[in-house]
Amino acid sequence: MIHDNAWTIYSAEDLEKLEKLSADYIGFLNNGKTERECVAQLVEMAKGKGYRDLAEIIANDEKLASGDKVYAVNMDKMVMMVNIGEDIIRDGMNILGAHIDSPRLDIKQNPLYESDELAYFDTHYYGGIKKYQYVTMPLALHGVVVKTDGTKVRICIGEKDDDPVFIISDILIHLAEEQMKKVVSTAIEGESLDILVGSKPLKGKDKDAVKEFILDLLKKEYDIEEDDFISAEIEAVPAGRAKEAGFDRSMIAGYGQDDRCCAYPSAAAMLDVADPKKTSCGLFVDKEEIGSVGATSMESHFFEDMMREILDRMGIYSELNLARCLRNSRMLSSDVSAAYDPLYADRFEKKNTAKLGHGLAFNKYTGARGKSGANDANPEYLGIIRQVLDKHDVVYQTSELGKVDAGGGGTIAYILSLYGMQVVDCGVPVLSMHAPWETISKSDLYEAYKGYKAFLIEC
Ligand code: MN
Ligand code: MN
Repeated sequence: MIHDNAWTIYSAEDLEKLEKLSADYIGFLNNGKTERECVAQLVEMAKGKGYRDLAEIIANDEKLASGDKVYAVNMDKMVMMVNIGEDIIRDGMNILGAHIDSPRLDIKQNPLYESDELAYFDTHYYGGIKKYQYVTMPLALHGVVVKTDGTKVRICIGEKDDDPVFIISDILIHLAEEQMKKVVSTAIEGESLDILVGSKPLKGKDKDAVKEFILDLLKKEYDIEEDDFISAEIEAVPAGRAKEAGFDRSMIAGYGQDDRCCAYPSAAAMLDVADPKKTSCGLFVDKEEIGSVGATSMESHFFEDMMREILDRMGIYSELNLARCLRNSRMLSSDVSAAYDPLYADRFEKKNTAKLGHGLAFNKYTGARGKSGANDANPEYLGIIRQVLDKHDVVYQTSELGKVDAGGGGTIAYILSLYGMQVVDCGVPVLSMHAPWETISKSDLYEAYKGYKAFLIEC
């Protein structure tokens, strides 16, 4: 249903469901600031609904059939869920796919240094960020350090009320005459995004005493040595909890909503449809923000291989059955869209832009410079999707990522389309996408959940 503003049609019951979903989602954001933390939460959610680990089923040589629910984890950073439906699986699945990685600053392999009695962690940014947004804001460190004996030390510093936070300094305005003349893209250099981690010297040390203090503390509190950073994955992310936003609390502001505001309702929808007719599949992938490359990305063979395993457990594995299953599947690539921003109105073409509060946003195509790199969804497929959304009173809208030639972007849609399946991008519109704090509307989150659920039930 194309509608002016979703908020105007809600019943008291809708509003209650919307607030419950929003509160759960805020909890998911607060406990999921990295892909690993999101995977851990998604696995717990799946287990709670009776999903079982596919690895365990394979190890026990168990069979799978209609009604079975499984999840598979790839290197703790990607997870997929499959709920085997009544229909023959080679006739296709309904797939929801979202990414759970978000832009941030990654700590380098050899990060710690001291300069003039201040200790720093050197970083390399991950994904598309406006570098100036990351200075003078509280950051938290999340991740793992793996020692040579295989021990994994989990790090999460900066989120609890009494935790310290980490800051990247910026030159004071009084001395910024030269900086203020620079263009925004180079005013803050990537190499100068170094995080201040300490300022207290270790007694009795002459050289690099502040760095030595930090190393001494890391050894005592975490049993980490300087060399252990070589085998670590530590992400500096905005510290603090996601919040309701606005006097009317109609919005949610928080870190990492691209693409967790689509991943969460996708998972919730999938887990709420207990017995689908067609097999449903949820994909929650890593590395989308750097081009879907690497072993935990959508481009890895993990999804395909797990489908081989599932078909094998069902006793119907063949490459032909796999190809048929994938080719006959339908997918909603659940990824965010740019929300129309009245403060930057000239970057958008108003008729073809997602508006906050106007529901689930469909991007028939993404791409840049003449749709380059886009999965351009088929109208035949969009016709079916419209019918399903209308049947379930889902408020939706269509969108392009800004006006023609204003810029561009991509999602995982094109990767799944390689199997010959029908794919379209659809998700929640986001204000200030990729900023440390992004903003969405609760109503769009709710409509996304309703839309994803309708897709799994009807398609
Ligand atoms: Mn995204
Ligand atoms: Mn993104």
